[in-house]
Amino acid sequence: MSFQNPVFIPGPTNMPESLRKAVDMPTIDHRSPLFAEILHPALAGVKQVLQSKTAEIFIFPSTGTGGWETALTNTLSPGDRVLVARNGMFSARWIDMCERHGLVVEVVETAWGTGIPAARFQEVLHGDTAHSIKAVLATHNETATGVKSDIAAVRRAIDTESHPAMLFVDGVSSIASMDFRMEDWGVDIAVAGSQKGFMLPAGLAILGFSPKAIAATETATLPRTFFDIRDMAKGYANNGFPYTPPVGLLNGLKMSCDMLLGEGLEQVFARHARIANGVRAAVSAWGLELCARAPELYSDTVSAIKTPEGFDATDIVAHAAAKYGVAFGVGLGEVAGKVFRIGHLGSLTDVMMLSGLATAEMCMVDLDLDVTLGSGVAAAQEIYRQSAKTGE
Ligand SMILES: *Cc1c(COP(=O)(O)O)cnc(C)c1O
Repeated sequence: MSFQNPVFIPGPTNMPESLRKAVDMPTIDHRSPLFAEILHPALAGVKQVLQSKTAEIFIFPSTGTGGWETALTNTLSPGDRVLVARNGMFSARWIDMCERHGLVVEVVETAWGTGIPAARFQEVLHGDTAHSIKAVLATHNETATGVKSDIAAVRRAIDTESHPAMLFVDGVSSIASMDFRMEDWGVDIAVAGSQKGFMLPAGLAILGFSPKAIAATETATLPRTFFDIRDMAKGYANNGFPYTPPVGLLNGLKMSCDMLLGEGLEQVFARHARIANGVRAAVSAWGLELCARAPELYSDTVSAIKTPEGFDATDIVAHAAAKYGVAFGVGLGEVAGKVFRIGHLGSLTDVMMLSGLATAEMCMVDLDLDVTLGSGVAAAQEIYRQSAKTGE
């Protein structure tokens, strides 16, 4: 593997030089005022990225998975019911975590390649006249299948039934790359991690809690210590953490938010959409199809690409690593061997993306797939040229 090439996996993502430098810091005393100058701007930056005015932000030394656990353990009690769709590896893992915490999970089995069925959720909520469902869990962007779900529609389903369930959203592979509106969509807990849209190394679970989710911590009885947001809130009030904070990562997060907000969230989302359009044009020029079944489901951060029957898609990923020093993502779970994934989020330009598409083409031709060298690259070039011309 070459360290010179960008990675095309859906996280961890490429790190801009400026963020690598921001993370690389001398030791400071985390009880000194210096730390407050890192912590508070980082919290404020995340709040803006989540597009929320009322959320409280919590950052734990962890990853997205720890963010799921933070959401569950702070707000729920053993035996509480939660409603969730299983439509990919990440929603499946969150469901597993719920079960291991003693929650009663209403799983709506949903075909991989499709999105969260809001209408089906509404039916289930309609039937829950006792309001025993305490939370609806939604994976905004299924990283395993490259499927984006409509979170606003899930919120409408809850509200139409006047159901009091909270809405928890896994935005690990969408936040800071695709439009995510914590306030507008009535999200009670948003979960992100440092190593995807924020372009940092893994190591931070990043969450937003609505006032309703914060209130739920008073009655929730699932055990929690390390991830207790009440301890964290007390820490923040004293300009610190309840334990030793990962100062370098937090400094990186502060700078990452500055970078994202400096580019402008609209522009960040538009860049991801444009790069993704180029990838999708390449996929169709190759004569291949996405795992995501309809255009409104297409993710702007990751594409899961189906390979022909009888071909092991994992070979493309292994070949790219061995021969060209380039990383793509393998298929996970139900779609293992059937798809390979191109991650296109974080610090990425059109030109970087073209190199990834060119590499994928070389691999597919090397492995005797019926793909013409240059076909996907040319299709993406057209997309990128047009938008450069029109400035969109
Ligand atoms: C990456 C990812 C996670 C898990 O994050 P970790 O940081 O590896 O714990 C959760 N959900 C989604 C949608 C992801 O893409």
